[in-house]
Amino acid sequence: MSRFVDLHTHSNRSDGTVSPAEVVRRARRQGIETLVLTDHDTVSGFEEARGEALRLGQRFACGVEINTREGDNVHILGYGVDPSSGRLRESLEEFCGRRLRRAEGIIGRLGELGVDLRLEEVVGLSREAIGRPHVADALRRKGVVRSRAEAFRRYLGRGAAAYVEPMGPTVEEAIALIREVGGFAVLAHPGLLGRDFPLGPWVDAGLEGIEAYYVTHTRPQVQRYLETAKRYGLMPTGGSDFHGPRTGHQDNLGVRLPEDVFSRIEPRLRVLGGSS
Ligand code: AMP
Ligand code: ZN
Ligand code: FE
Ligand code: FE
Repeated sequence: MSRFVDLHTHSNRSDGTVSPAEVVRRARRQGIETLVLTDHDTVSGFEEARGEALRLGQRFACGVEINTREGDNVHILGYGVDPSSGRLRESLEEFCGRRLRRAEGIIGRLGELGVDLRLEEVVGLSREAIGRPHVADALRRKGVVRSRAEAFRRYLGRGAAAYVEPMGPTVEEAIALIREVGGFAVLAHPGLLGRDFPLGPWVDAGLEGIEAYYVTHTRPQVQRYLETAKRYGLMPTGGSDFHGPRTGHQDNLGVRLPEDVFSRIEPRLRVLGGSS
């Protein structure tokens, strides 16, 4: 027995290319049993997604993905968070402000490389959380690159010419914030981190899960992270990291989670309404 769910998705409130309501519609069409919207550093898509979820009878919950400053791609997923929490919204706004400063830094580097880009061409591509994908999209519009992937390879990825270190919170700060607003924290896509980070300190700080069933993880990687989960007493979770068309991520939603895996997570997601 398995459950077809998606606990990791993005809309255009951060670096996805479709609206929160459209993420919900696609989830419904694709038969996703439970959907969680986890935009980067914002929960502003929650109301729109909830409205559509109620209309369509889609089981839905609010989440968030907090990008930390520790290396590239060290992201902490927050589940069961209260999207109306002022504490949460204030902190996320602060992180979004830092994202803007990082984008300015990247644009400065690009200028030194002879690639002219203005901040105004980048902001407006996201409703809330500006990131490197929006710089990539602006470069694509100008014909400098053909895809987000090419922009990351040539300019934006770690080690590339216009790379600027992320300015988000530390992992411990991200975990503390998620816990403070009633949620639980999960290490996102461990297979994308490029190296193994010592998990002990993060578990001590309150980390409760690890995204073992990530869409691009190989079978051996899934096995490995399931063993990691067992060793540290973490819940394995899973998701597709859907970002929508033209993002370099796969277009389909959904992952299959074993029944016993999902049944540990489900009661803590604060799932709203829906049939099925
Ligand atoms: P940022 O939040 O600005 O650090 O950018 C990180 C985001 O960029 C990730 O969440 C991905 O959605 C996206 N990303 C990272 N690497 C690539 C790539 N090679 N191609 C397309 N998107 C990427
Ligand atoms: Zn993203
Ligand atoms: Fe991520
Ligand atoms: Fe993500």
